[in-house]
Amino acid sequence: MSILQGLLDNCIRDIDQVLSALGITGEEADTLRKVAKRYPVSIPPYYLNLIDPSDPEDPIRRLSVPSAVEDSVHGHEDTSGESHNTVLTGVQHKYAQTALVLTTSQCSMYCRHCFRKRMVGYTHDEVTKQILGMAEYVKAHPEINNILLSGGDAFINENDVIREYLDHLVDLPQLDYIRFGTRTPVVLPMRIYDDPELLDILREYGSHKQIYIVTHFDHPHEITEESKRAVRALIEAGCPVRNQAVLLKGVNDDPEVLAQLLNSLTSIGALPYYVFQCRPAKGVLTQFQVPLERGYEIVSKARTLCSGQAKAFRYVLSHVTGKIEILGRLGEEMVFRYHQSKYRENDERLFTMKLREDQCWLENIPGWEKHS
Ligand code: SF4
Repeated sequence: MSILQGLLDNCIRDIDQVLSALGITGEEADTLRKVAKRYPVSIPPYYLNLIDPSDPEDPIRRLSVPSAVEDSVHGHEDTSGESHNTVLTGVQHKYAQTALVLTTSQCSMYCRHCFRKRMVGYTHDEVTKQILGMAEYVKAHPEINNILLSGGDAFINENDVIREYLDHLVDLPQLDYIRFGTRTPVVLPMRIYDDPELLDILREYGSHKQIYIVTHFDHPHEITEESKRAVRALIEAGCPVRNQAVLLKGVNDDPEVLAQLLNSLTSIGALPYYVFQCRPAKGVLTQFQVPLERGYEIVSKARTLCSGQAKAFRYVLSHVTGKIEILGRLGEEMVFRYHQSKYRENDERLFTMKLREDQCWLENIPGWEKHS
């Protein structure tokens, strides 16, 4: 049995085990059992141990344990237009230069705020079926200069599958780099530091093509000796690590907590890259979204507490028309800029909007109606 499979076999997937570990009983337990039927649960024992069972608002608990509001009917299945970007099953041509591959629908921990809840842990239908076909598509589109291997969690693939992806991609001269999107350093760090074969693969292929690891720490409590060790192992294997956090109600929507996260990330070598506005995904928005105006206040106050490296991130939202940076406020309006655009006419476009106090997402962006 592989190291990965041994670790996955140990993950807690039975909601009753989670409920009993946290002492959740009665009506609440019944509701959570119902939620877990639609939105599966998996928590590695390592991650479960980070929860303070005496604190119902513990941030790690909010990130990993279902809640009653998760069952809400509000929200959308595909908030960023992924179905429109899909060119082959599991392959998205996201921006002109960027391809994204859904390599798996599995994760060792199912984040309660996952924007791909429609498929993650639920259905394999959207996962790529043909690595060769994906590579041929990339070859036929020389404008693609980078590729993100995502999922699910790309490091939940066995090592021979990771090797197969890299085999097909490292020799493509058009690619400047390959990224792996993975929360494994955060939730199952021993899959990295205890698996020399994985590290050798990254070292070997990374000597031909630059590999970056895009990971996802959301709270300072996720930065432990184990997760530091995983990040260090990746860096020593030649893979720079970048972090994408999501601004989440009840987890990191406090300037001091966010600043602590961002500063700590620089100390372990996982440089802050994006802070995402939480998407209006079904099963997510009711529980986790922070209004944009408040989000901007939190992020800007956090920036004042950050070192230069720690604030080298962008506060963005992934809209169906592209990645939009939330730049600031001008009088009564908020200022935005397209950081990555799906449509050429939006490249680097600045626009302003007056938002409602409770507005968490952008609708009716000036000039986007023609693409809706
Ligand atoms: S690790 Fe990523 S893909 Fe998996 S549940 Fe968490 S956010 Fe979703």
